[in-house]
Amino acid sequence: MTVSVSTQAPSSGSGHRQPDNLLEVNRLSLAFQTSRGSLKALRDVTLHVPKGSIVGVVGESGCGKSTLIYAVIKLLAANARYNGGQILFKGRDLLPMSLDQIRRIRGSEISMIFQDPMTALNPVHSIRRQMLDIQYRERINSNEKIQRAIAMLEKVGIVDAAGRLKNFPHHFSGGMRQRIAIAMALLSKPTLLMADEPTTALDATLEAQIIHRLRELQQEVNCSILFVSHHLGLVAEFCDRVVVMYAGEVVEEGTIRDIFHRAAHPYTKALLECDPAGIKEKTRFLPTISGDFPDLVNPPPGCIFQSRCRRVMDICAQRAPDLTRAAQGHVARCHLVSG
Ligand code: SF4
Repeated sequence: MTVSVSTQAPSSGSGHRQPDNLLEVNRLSLAFQTSRGSLKALRDVTLHVPKGSIVGVVGESGCGKSTLIYAVIKLLAANARYNGGQILFKGRDLLPMSLDQIRRIRGSEISMIFQDPMTALNPVHSIRRQMLDIQYRERINSNEKIQRAIAMLEKVGIVDAAGRLKNFPHHFSGGMRQRIAIAMALLSKPTLLMADEPTTALDATLEAQIIHRLRELQQEVNCSILFVSHHLGLVAEFCDRVVVMYAGEVVEEGTIRDIFHRAAHPYTKALLECDPAGIKEKTRFLPTISGDFPDLVNPPPGCIFQSRCRRVMDICAQRAPDLTRAAQGHVARCHLVSG
């Protein structure tokens, strides 16, 4: 499968590489070795995260969006195999780097916020201990590290941050734990923050508060964010650009306006129709995208979305579509898109 047009930063659309991209994933393919064979979890994935921007990655469960961000920092199961491509971070390819080199980048230049804050926080250590540990690379004394920790906890909205340092994760609510996890992720002033469904476990009010605070901190720290979510409304509010994934492929990429107001790919359109926030009439049944998800051990020839596409044509089963320019800075992987 070839890529005829690169996904680009908003300012370009020219088809040339952007020097101001913080992260460039170029034609990345990755598979998991299973008892059934090689499961092609990512195929020919290309995306760019411009400096200082927030890029959302959306798609149904199993589309590869979380696998993609874990692939960037090589935090994958032992049965994962990279099958080609590049992951350029500040122009350096992370793929050939050793685990030691990657570890030096993780937690300093690239930080991560996980879906469940208990995954990131150690339940048997106090917040004070964990916030000190995370600063182990800093050449400042413990007292200065504590002051930095308190300041960051206050920024994410922890009341009486100094007094609560002695507490353990279980002393905090889910929302407060996620705020602490965000504070820890930002303490190293990363240039890239990757967030994997960071508000999924929270109610709508807390979700809005945390996203609002994250946006403020992103501007303050001046980092870029790669934000994985199945929540389309949140992505529309929070992100600058959106990447739509289906069955391990990028099927569309563009600005918020491109994706939410002039989607070009039939999958993106179907996804938007299924968004509960967009349903106008009262109904007892939420719409779904009909058809079967393709088998990624034996992906079909042609378009990966053909078994569920309402616009499917003969050519779709014969030839895989390229990622094709729909408009400036807006691309889609579909034979219907002619540029
Ligand atoms: Fe549908 Fe064909 Fe476009 Fe695939 S290439 S999304 S099957 S119209």
